[in-house]
Amino acid sequence: MLIDNLLEHAAQKCQQAGGRFTDKRRNILKNLINAKSPLSAYDLTELYNQNNDKKVQPMSVYRILDFFIEMKLVHKLPTLNKYVVCSHLSCQHSHQDQYFVVCKSCGDAQEISMNSKLTQELNESVSSVGFQLVDAQFELFGLCKNCSNQS
Ligand SMILES: [Zn+2]
Ligand SMILES: [Zn+2]
Ligand SMILES: [Zn+2]
Repeated sequence: MLIDNLLEHAAQKCQQAGGRFTDKRRNILKNLINAKSPLSAYDLTELYNQNNDKKVQPMSVYRILDFFIEMKLVHKLPTLNKYVVCSHLSCQHSHQDQYFVVCKSCGDAQEISMNSKLTQELNESVSSVGFQLVDAQFELFGLCKNCSNQS
């Protein structure tokens, strides 16, 4: 799908949720869509500042990323401290819980939707130690197709 279409979808989702899709936000999301692998807030700050005369501070990029996470346009990968664009950016359906598989070799990350059976099993094992599941996101590490073919 064309990047402009993806950005248009993102803008619509923001507007529906009552959030503004400013030029700065648009720019940062575009850089993340174009990225081949997950990026840190610092990477995104640098990318933005390379192409814009009016510089942005990392703090402001963090705030923008938090906004995107809330809008479910972007996900954070906590163990890497990096961000990826949601793979359902252009979808109309509501967002399910997700997890990620991250390539140990090249750092590529793929989002996988959690099916209800898996969510239920996680809930059960979490409650077996007296906890309640709040955020089911996690990361698994492996080798992507490209990297496993090389070895
Ligand atoms: Zn997602
Ligand atoms: Zn989807
Ligand atoms: Zn790889």
